[in-house]
Amino acid sequence: MSQSWYQTTAHAAPAHPALQGSLHCDVAILGGGLTGLSTAIDLAKAGRKVILLESHTIGWGASGRSGGQAIFGFGCDQAKLTAQLGLADSRKLFDWSVEGVELIHARRKAFDIDCDWRDGHAHVAIKPRHVTELKGWIADLQDNFDYPVEWWEGEQLRSVVPSSRYIGGLVDQRSGHLHPLNYTLGLARAAQQLGVRIFEHSAVTQLDRGAKPVLRTAQGQVQADFVVLAGNAYVRGIAPELDSRIMPVGTYIGATEPLGETKARELIRNDMAVADINWALDYFRLSSDHRLLFGGRASYSTLPPPNLRGTMQRRMTRVFPQLAGVKLDYVWGGYVDISLSRAPHWGRLGNNVYFAQGFSGHGIAATGLAGRVIAEAIQGQSERLDVFGKLRHLPFPGGRLFRTPMLVAAMAWYKLRDALW
Ligand SMILES: Cc1cc2nc3c(=O)[nH]c(=O)nc-3n(C[C@H](O)[C@H](O)[C@H](O)COP(=O)(O)OP(=O)(O)OC[C@H]3O[C@@H](n4cnc5c(N)ncnc54)[C@H](O)[C@@H]3O)c2cc1C
Repeated sequence: MSQSWYQTTAHAAPAHPALQGSLHCDVAILGGGLTGLSTAIDLAKAGRKVILLESHTIGWGASGRSGGQAIFGFGCDQAKLTAQLGLADSRKLFDWSVEGVELIHARRKAFDIDCDWRDGHAHVAIKPRHVTELKGWIADLQDNFDYPVEWWEGEQLRSVVPSSRYIGGLVDQRSGHLHPLNYTLGLARAAQQLGVRIFEHSAVTQLDRGAKPVLRTAQGQVQADFVVLAGNAYVRGIAPELDSRIMPVGTYIGATEPLGETKARELIRNDMAVADINWALDYFRLSSDHRLLFGGRASYSTLPPPNLRGTMQRRMTRVFPQLAGVKLDYVWGGYVDISLSRAPHWGRLGNNVYFAQGFSGHGIAATGLAGRVIAEAIQGQSERLDVFGKLRHLPFPGGRLFRTPMLVAAMAWYKLRDALW
């Protein structure tokens, strides 16, 4: 795998020191991605002393690698949330997810973050089963959630995204896409300006629970009134009861060579982001320098797929045969934190350790919300976090040793379903 296109186009960012020695603060946060930074910003604005520990550099995890598609909702269907919680609570979660998208705009403006935001997103259908699914979803969104989206029949969609693979799409003008690493770095700059102390190359090796929990690293420790665990698919062994409820799944992205504005715009004429609704989905969008960023090819075994570049090229030309012969300049990947139900898993362990995980590949907007909801709870207003806490989260079956092979088997079935009908 190469460096990502995001890394080569990242804005200059300050390096942060590694933690040395013993510090105290109000809230200690593990993880320098969107969740940790969102939490840090709201708490610092409320006057709390916050320290954030990142094992690599800011945005090193999923937040700096993602497809950049910022969408309402969560990783699972809204219908699943309604079935578990009832319509009233499901509506709350839905409205808050839209707030997550709006929070991106608010923070871009408040902190002057340049991250190439573009409006528009489409979930597209490849087969009649998908059309039925998407039309049912549109009806549910309009009838139960007051959220207007458009249905584009095949021809209308193909006049904007000229791929014969797609036969219709749900188009949402309020979702969109951005440069995820530059957004994350912008939030880090804002957090630092608000007084958050950030330490990079400071992997947390242990959490001591108790009245004043402690995060320990190889060369230091932070004691705090509250700890927030925001390590996503990359954290292991700090809170075992959380580890068993998510599965790291690899997903990959390729960036073409620059296509030039005219050729790029011929692929997505309105510059929106696009994702199909297969289980093993393809997702793509244009970059600010007129490349196609094309994502897909999940790896459930956590091993990087062999000949990734060739696979990504094949998937891309299956959508756009006109790109045959176009080179992929960059190919990279990262892990998403899938929960068994794909619903968000956010909550509290004991009185003073908070966590958010289980974004299930749908975290760009939801992470901002997670940080806000955790910051509220730490300040004594846990009503919103309590609604998320009602969601049941079962551990992956099979324990540490067997859950990966079992997931691989389950996913093989879903892939077969994608292929057959
Ligand atoms: C390739 C890819 C494509 C994606 N595409 C999309 C998309 O298009 N739309 C969308 O909505 N979502 C997408 N996602 C998901 C989305 O990026 C994530 O849900 C979101 O970024 C999660 O943010 P986070 O802050 O929770 O985790 P992360 O960004 O992963 O941050 C966690 C951080 O914690 C650090 N950490 C872990 N353990 C420790 C430790 N022990 N000590 C200190 N630090 C630690 C890690 O180094 C990491 O930087 C994608 C993800 C990937 C990988």
